[in-house]
Amino acid sequence: MYNSKLEKMPLEELRALQNDRLSALVKRVYQTVPFYKKQFDAIGLQPDDIQTVEDLSKIPFTKKTDLRDNYPYGMFAKPMNEIRRIHASSGTTGKPTVVGYTQNDLDVFDEVVARSLACAGARPGMKLHNAYGYGLFTGGLGMHGGATKLGMAVIPVSGGMTERQLTILQDFKPEVMCCTPSYAQTLSEEFAKKGIDTKTLAVKYAVLGAEPWTEAIREQVEAGLDVAATNIYGLSEIIGPGVSQEDVEEKGTGSYIWEDHFYPEVVDKTTGLPLPYGEEGVLIFTTLTKEAFPLLRYWTNDICSIDYDKNAKRTHIKMSAIKGRADDMLIIRGVNLFHTQVEEVIHQINFLSPNYRLIVEKKGAMDAVTVEVETIQGVEVDNEELSKQLHGKIKDTIGLSMNIALKTPNTIPRSQGGKLSRILDKR
Ligand code: ADP
Repeated sequence: MYNSKLEKMPLEELRALQNDRLSALVKRVYQTVPFYKKQFDAIGLQPDDIQTVEDLSKIPFTKKTDLRDNYPYGMFAKPMNEIRRIHASSGTTGKPTVVGYTQNDLDVFDEVVARSLACAGARPGMKLHNAYGYGLFTGGLGMHGGATKLGMAVIPVSGGMTERQLTILQDFKPEVMCCTPSYAQTLSEEFAKKGIDTKTLAVKYAVLGAEPWTEAIREQVEAGLDVAATNIYGLSEIIGPGVSQEDVEEKGTGSYIWEDHFYPEVVDKTTGLPLPYGEEGVLIFTTLTKEAFPLLRYWTNDICSIDYDKNAKRTHIKMSAIKGRADDMLIIRGVNLFHTQVEEVIHQINFLSPNYRLIVEKKGAMDAVTVEVETIQGVEVDNEELSKQLHGKIKDTIGLSMNIALKTPNTIPRSQGGKLSRILDKR
């Protein structure tokens, strides 16, 4: 554990720390960010009204549109001469949002990424193959800083140029790698195509995030690269990667949210009302310690649930895997649909690989979904029987009738280094 004092802090102490940090944060943003002063004044809320995390529900949400309205620097709480770095979101869903960091923010970023890497199995003295993109995207530099702080040697490969990635993974002998799960799929398939036995590689741990993924991809990547793969979650608005991380010995039980820095809530996506632990809704964060770009109740648009795990090594709350972004949710004939739900069904059927995409089209007045999915390499399958099976299971579990188009291996687009879109919406 990188910081066992904080990672195992008794819950009452953690709450007291959060409350102290929250009341100081609220006073700070009220004085320094005009957006928040206006927001509080409009509803007659005083900074002193917020003393504990229970008071948070009095504060309105901050949404991505608020950040866009204040583009580029309107939400900064520190003057530019105290800013040491500027990043932007990947812009997956429109104009990017711009975020800033003071030196202290960068130190916190390093701390939470160092904790995350240790949680994933990394140790000082190991080498990190960092295949997250370097640049405005927080992935590359974020992982870099945390790995350095942990005491690792960073190989700053960045995303893309797959041939070179394979060479470096073989020759530089990193024990840990990080990239998007879809790119890990690509890398594992490229090794297989070349007939290279990945058991000969030094890499043992893969830290994967920046897009939704399920056990289907974990299985493929762990077998294909001979690694233990864990989930890392984050978003540039909150800090970048390292908001939460799954422990390599607690796989499948959720990712620890480093809640001494990021206070989470889950709320109903329609009413905005807080939901009990374990119920699925929109994930909300308050950045308890951020200086340059503090946010109160930021609406991430990511769908998951949060809960404490009594059997866990650490005291911090865990979040479930993200099902998808609320704005990536398809509504098909009145049924809500995330692509990860289809991925989960594919996983239950033999001879199908988690290389798939959903094509959405208008068929007359109705929306129709076609699942394109590849069969696995080197196996003769009965296409008709397999399609029938997938169609039936999707109908049973999701409640929608979808067209099935089975594809031969290596025909559906792959990640070339970054996030992969698994939905092609032709409407
Ligand atoms: P953008 O929103 O433009 O993609 P970011 O690069 O900051 O900008 O990406 C953050 C978003 O990426 C999150 O809000 C979430 O939707 C997604 N994301 C990040 N990590 C994960 C993860 N481990 N699982 C699922 N989704 C993730």
